[in-house]
Amino acid sequence: MRKKIVAGNWKMNKNLSDTKVLLSELKAQLAGVSEAEIVVAPTYVNLYSASEALKGSGVKVAAQNMHQAENGAYTGEISADMLKDIGVKTVILGHSERRAYFGETDALLVEKVNTALKHGIKVIFCFGEELDDRKSDNHFNVVESQLKNGLFHIDAANWKNIVLAYEPVWAIGTGETASPEQAQEMHAFIRSTIEKAFDATVADEVSILYGGSVKPNNAVEIFAKPDVDGGLIGGASLDAESFAAIAKAI
Ligand code: PEP
Repeated sequence: MRKKIVAGNWKMNKNLSDTKVLLSELKAQLAGVSEAEIVVAPTYVNLYSASEALKGSGVKVAAQNMHQAENGAYTGEISADMLKDIGVKTVILGHSERRAYFGETDALLVEKVNTALKHGIKVIFCFGEELDDRKSDNHFNVVESQLKNGLFHIDAANWKNIVLAYEPVWAIGTGETASPEQAQEMHAFIRSTIEKAFDATVADEVSILYGGSVKPNNAVEIFAKPDVDGGLIGGASLDAESFAAIAKAI
């Protein structure tokens, strides 16, 4: 059975002291929550202390990005090996902010996905349409092409290391959420697209998270949809109480 997952993307927020406080609050608030796998993605410089602080807690640590090369002259970048060495076994790739502000293309993401999988690092792969795509009724095409271009080259066996995060760009950080029906419609489309390209087992077992202004007051309804397997949470993951409430909504 596919996993339920609630992941918090902290983006460029929380210095080391704030990270320590938030993690200790989270550990207290999430004790006993076993219905979902919980993941947090602090900024690079705090990944090591986060992975140390969370040892034994069951909460996993993810990186927000990773370079595609093994090592070398890539100033300012972080490799898969560096992540693994500090106990980080999950990476978020393809976030819309990386695509929009850092020029990450589908072709680059293919390289990043390949490197992560080669190192046994699980990928939370983000994709989703812009507002114009939805208004022009092109959202299914956009999502299908992001999936095909970024992921459909991998073997069926590698899908166990992929988590999908459907994040309509118009809902990220805007306070505007896809309705539970819109989320379900797209998640069902994603699953059927994967089934056509691979098989029913791959489609049935991949966790598909929804991301875009999930808050404690809308999480229950969104997570209740059959093809929504949890959430990727931005703003609301920066507060222990709201993130824990969302995790409990599973
Ligand atoms: C995100 O950036 O992945 C996200 C879902 O952000 P927010 O929850 O703030 O919309």
